[in-house]
Amino acid sequence: MRRPIIAGNWKMFKTLAETRAFFDALIPEIQGVEHCEIVVAPPFTALSAAAEEAEGTRVSISAQDVFWEPQGAFTGEIAVRMLVDAGCAYTIIGHSERRQFFAETDETVERKTRAAINGGLHAIVCVGEMLTERDAGQAAAVVRHQVKGGLGKFSETELSRVTIAYEPVWAIGTGRTATPEIAEEMHLEIRKTILEIHGPSSAGAIRILYGGSVKPDNIASLMKCDDIDGALVGGASLDPASFAAIIKYS
Ligand code: PEP
Repeated sequence: MRRPIIAGNWKMFKTLAETRAFFDALIPEIQGVEHCEIVVAPPFTALSAAAEEAEGTRVSISAQDVFWEPQGAFTGEIAVRMLVDAGCAYTIIGHSERRQFFAETDETVERKTRAAINGGLHAIVCVGEMLTERDAGQAAAVVRHQVKGGLGKFSETELSRVTIAYEPVWAIGTGRTATPEIAEEMHLEIRKTILEIHGPSSAGAIRILYGGSVKPDNIASLMKCDDIDGALVGGASLDPASFAAIIKYS
């Protein structure tokens, strides 16, 4: 049995005061929820405050990115041990916005993932095709390539500290969710890729989240799919009421 994860990616939103207000509203709403792991990924500046707010609750804190070097002259970057120190248990790696706007590649995804899991974090590694790639019939090939390039060299033990998020770029922030059929087809493709590289045990155990305009009214139909093990939620995770509803309906 794979335990579902509902993770919220705040992107570049929320100050410290807004972070505290979010947790004040969210925590009472999710009392008694036990069926899934709950993860919130604030911006770097709010990680410590979020970790303080989440202490003693069932919410884990995630960063949205990390650098692979342990320390040094890398202006603007954040190391794994700094994230652990700030109270993170997870980090997102290879989000499509980082691939598109900040030159993230499968190679940097692999280096970051290795550093994260060696340093004690759980990595949520994002993959997903662009609309042009889907329209050209290349969606499966693109995602297989990303999975192999980013995660192909890890051992089974290392892979147990990784969750994959399938996020079709055309569905992120657009209000256009992949149908459960499309999402399930791509999740199966990803699981098949893990099976080919790492064998049946890793393929059966790895959790694959769907991301792309997940909302309270579509989470249940996505979660009915056998190979969808949760969601990475952007816009709808900013509002505590809608994030709580997604968690409850998942
Ligand atoms: C995301 O940022 O990972 C995401 C899926 O965003 P949204 O839910 O807003 O589409």
